[in-house]
Amino acid sequence: MLAISEQYKKQANFIGGEWVNADSGETLDVNNPATGEIIGTIPKSGKAETRRAIEAAQAAFLTFRKISALDRSKMLRRLHDVIMDNQESLAQLLSMEQGKSLFEARGEVGMSAAYVLWYAEEARRTYGDVVPSPWADRRILVTKEPVGVVAAITPWNFPASMLARKIGPAIAAGCTIVAKPATQTPYSGLAWGLLAEEAGIPAGVVNIVTGSASEIGGEITKNPLVRKITFTGSTEVGKLLLKQAAGTVKKVSMELGGNAPFLVFNDADLERAVEGAIAAKFRNSGQTCVCTNRFLVQSKIYNKFVERLAEASDALKVGNGMDEGTQQGPLIDMNAVESVESMIEDAVKKGGKVVAGGKRHSLGGSFFEPTVIANAKARMRFTKEEIFGPIAPVYKFKSEEEAIDLANNTLFGLACYFYTQDLGRAYRVMEGLKYGLVGVNEGVITTVEAPFGGMKESGLGKEGGHQGIEDYLDTKYVCIGGLGM
Ligand code: ADP
Repeated sequence: MLAISEQYKKQANFIGGEWVNADSGETLDVNNPATGEIIGTIPKSGKAETRRAIEAAQAAFLTFRKISALDRSKMLRRLHDVIMDNQESLAQLLSMEQGKSLFEARGEVGMSAAYVLWYAEEARRTYGDVVPSPWADRRILVTKEPVGVVAAITPWNFPASMLARKIGPAIAAGCTIVAKPATQTPYSGLAWGLLAEEAGIPAGVVNIVTGSASEIGGEITKNPLVRKITFTGSTEVGKLLLKQAAGTVKKVSMELGGNAPFLVFNDADLERAVEGAIAAKFRNSGQTCVCTNRFLVQSKIYNKFVERLAEASDALKVGNGMDEGTQQGPLIDMNAVESVESMIEDAVKKGGKVVAGGKRHSLGGSFFEPTVIANAKARMRFTKEEIFGPIAPVYKFKSEEEAIDLANNTLFGLACYFYTQDLGRAYRVMEGLKYGLVGVNEGVITTVEAPFGGMKESGLGKEGGHQGIEDYLDTKYVCIGGLGM
């Protein structure tokens, strides 16, 4: 009998309802970051396979677009049920390839199902308008229709739920999709093929290709059949895709990098702030785009906050994500370890004080100690650069105005958090922060009902909420004349 985590481990691409290998037969290895062990292979597909996937999606679109909103909604409900019936198996697969704790992996799979259910509901509410006409003998209709073939490119940090946010609204809108999951964590992406089959979603509606990112990305951006690209990943690759997509004027949604500030005012509830800080910093071992990058703490509460944050981060249990009780899994790979190490080295050289962690974990491999650095200064690299790892730098500020200026002094504008018990301050700060997501006295705020998305160089468009389906729809104005009135 297969181990439960193997049930959804599909080592092939899903194109037009068929499970296929790369044309060349070449494969890439996939490893478990907790053990370094190779857990399987995936096809190394390129341009030709991607083109076939796009053509399969276009062929499927011609019939899928005619399926009623109610029937698409029912498909998504079945997809939700299939995910939840297999939550444990999918969570184990996710933990095995990504490293995150089983607790977080179960949460992510639950979140995937929640997105799918939300869009099952939204599928039935893509209302248009009937507009009062300025002409007696004409009528004006505004309708919404699916854009067509959507291409989705997703990262390794949330390999299940990032695709849920894209596949869910695509199917709800009547679009078909070609997805490219990250090479480090492809199985949680390929699993969507099996899930779609089990939910009875027609062949060609969901297609998944793995392999060379630049070849797949090149074909996706160049091919005129693709009408929308939805990308979650680094700002660097996002900018490249925007440039490439300009040639065929595609719709684009971009969920890019962040540099989240976490403000703690003198009047904050200290224990609540520390609890929020741990969640907002160390979730997924610091590897999320909404993870705190900079703690900004007011002078009077600074020392106490640093002390409590260091204690709480020292108490986090680091280990293999598959072991019950683990709170911090390994980093995704050794490059991530080196990147975190070099940021700590830079900070220490410039006067930073390591008050918790600070080095590779004794477990070896890509395990790293949750780290807190006091005395953080503007000249340190993490002021501008996204850390994407378990380092919590703590800066000091004096006034509210200074805090808002420091918080906004970045090219990014995804998530921010602040803690205060003063209602007036809460409104002033909330309105002063140039961020797409704001947590007030809360460190984890993502939910399917609310729009997720950044301002400035953090991205374009929203995922989740009723807004999340808009980018998958084209608006059409219809003027009906000659009515003889
Ligand atoms: P991360 O730093 O999280 O790995 P990336 O932006 O490099 O962020 O990766 C996010 C996704 O973008 C992954 O699926 C990756 O394979 C893909 N990707 C990377 N480079 C390109 C590219 N040139 N064209 C298309 N996709 C790319």
